[in-house]
Amino acid sequence: MIYADYNATSPVLPSVVEAMSPYFAEEFANSASEHYPAGRRAAEAIARARAQIAHLVNAHEDEVVFVSGGTEAAFAALLGAYLARPARRHFLASPVEHSAVREALHTLTRPPLGALPEFLEVDSAGSLQQERLQSAVRADTGVAALMVANNETGVMWDLADTARLLRERGVVTFADAVQAVGKVPVDFQMLDVDLMSISAHKIGGPKGIGALVIRGGTPWISPMPGGGQERGRRGGTSPVPLIVGFGEAAALAELRLNNQRLNALRACRDAFETRLLSALPESRIQARDVARLPNTSSVTLPGVAALELVRALGERGVMIGVGSACHAREAEPSHVLRAMGLSVQECLATIRVSFGPDTREEQAVLLAEIISAEANAQRERTTKLVSERLEKAVA
Ligand code: PLP
Repeated sequence: MIYADYNATSPVLPSVVEAMSPYFAEEFANSASEHYPAGRRAAEAIARARAQIAHLVNAHEDEVVFVSGGTEAAFAALLGAYLARPARRHFLASPVEHSAVREALHTLTRPPLGALPEFLEVDSAGSLQQERLQSAVRADTGVAALMVANNETGVMWDLADTARLLRERGVVTFADAVQAVGKVPVDFQMLDVDLMSISAHKIGGPKGIGALVIRGGTPWISPMPGGGQERGRRGGTSPVPLIVGFGEAAALAELRLNNQRLNALRACRDAFETRLLSALPESRIQARDVARLPNTSSVTLPGVAALELVRALGERGVMIGVGSACHAREAEPSHVLRAMGLSVQECLATIRVSFGPDTREEQAVLLAEIISAEANAQRERTTKLVSERLEKAVA
């Protein structure tokens, strides 16, 4: 088995399972029941996890709000900022944002909300021009939603200057850091954004838990205060086991974020790309020359049906992605690649490979060989089919 779809999700690490397990049955108390010791222990476990996550991204513990994942974090960030300043109806976003952000913005356009999202252009490398962004700011611009790293191409943006310039003009910045956290160092203070999303299952933690990091003083009203949990910022009985697992995954991710490990991962990715390009010289690595996550490779294989290739590999226990994982069932061209100027055909011929912290270089090279063999086999089948059909038509 080869698993190279870490941007879709990652295996829960053994010590994460171990850390979580007591909190399902033995330590089951509600963390809000602080009037007895079991409840206080649950609250303490949450406090420890909050500190671990805050430490990973250099945020203050008070700024970390537990939510159900990256999708909820994005929705809560955007709706909460809108609720705080309803006169600021104009939202800026990049066209390569994850559907968590795109669909949240779409929901905000519905009556009676009436938000006005504007998606800016990116260039063929998936980069956003600072001047273009700044010149799009209007008097009623409330929020700019920009990602730290793209889930399909791995393209990274340094938002520090952007966020500062936007703040000077009263615009709140939301950064989707779901794919960046745990893969590269992410520093909430240095990024200088106001709101930031994280998801545990991308970093070896459980699914169904994440965080919205909210800078103190940000104009934001909780869309779901419920029973006052998370200091009134996100209601609902706290899922203690998930939060504990998220904390442990964050602590482990922090240990992995050293130059040696990052360089090894990059070397893996580079070995994969070099081998693939030598076997299939017509293939193209997307955004190869800009800053990218060290684990991600988006490759266009001209003449190949990516979905068919990924399915064929999947049957053999080789798992990679096609376009965005969330669209894996549909053979729909990726909006990210379309925004970068790829044709529909090129989009449908693009695969996404994303390695994990334990991927070895020989596995990466083997994967390139398996992909190129399958791509060639598919092309041969297509050529045979076409010539058979031609022969029939002529006969
Ligand atoms: N943002 C990005 C960039 C993602 O890649 C994903 C998941 O693929 C999400 C948000 C959604 O995160 P979650 O699965 O935790 O809801």
